[in-house]
Amino acid sequence: MGLPRIGLGYDIHRLEAVQEGGGILLAGTAIPCDLRMIAHSDGDVLLHAISDALLGAVGASDLGRHFPDDDPQQAGRDSQDIVRVILAMPELAGWRVAQVDTNLTLQRPRLAPYRDIMQGALARLLDLPLDRTGLKARTKEGCDATGRGQAVEAQAIVMLEETQTRA
Ligand code: MG
Repeated sequence: MGLPRIGLGYDIHRLEAVQEGGGILLAGTAIPCDLRMIAHSDGDVLLHAISDALLGAVGASDLGRHFPDDDPQQAGRDSQDIVRVILAMPELAGWRVAQVDTNLTLQRPRLAPYRDIMQGALARLLDLPLDRTGLKARTKEGCDATGRGQAVEAQAIVMLEETQTRA
């Protein structure tokens, strides 16, 4: 087997307060709150970071190139579907996700009640056991726009391993 491949991803989305119809999606999990993501797609910042990490691991450019945010077809796009499309790309043929680790940074809402649900959703999406699916959440201690509750940030690192030895 050859060396594993690794990829790093980062994303940020702005949040806005809403009177009604609030709620954000993280790892495909609906989190009720009085905020909404400002985004062209469904705004799942964690899955966007993971998507960029997957693309980076195989040298396949970035999310914006494959899913342009000025493309009307991407409006409201389900980010779990984006991840599935990336996993099925020819560049990822012969590779599987061996491990992922992530950071979510946002001031509110508190994610503690949803952490295990998000981790399970991520594990299912990437077909990983829970102990290879890292998901950590933190606030930004009130620093900068994210700390003022105006944005949510996500970081992801993935490791890919070959599914078979190549000739
Ligand atoms: Mg994004």
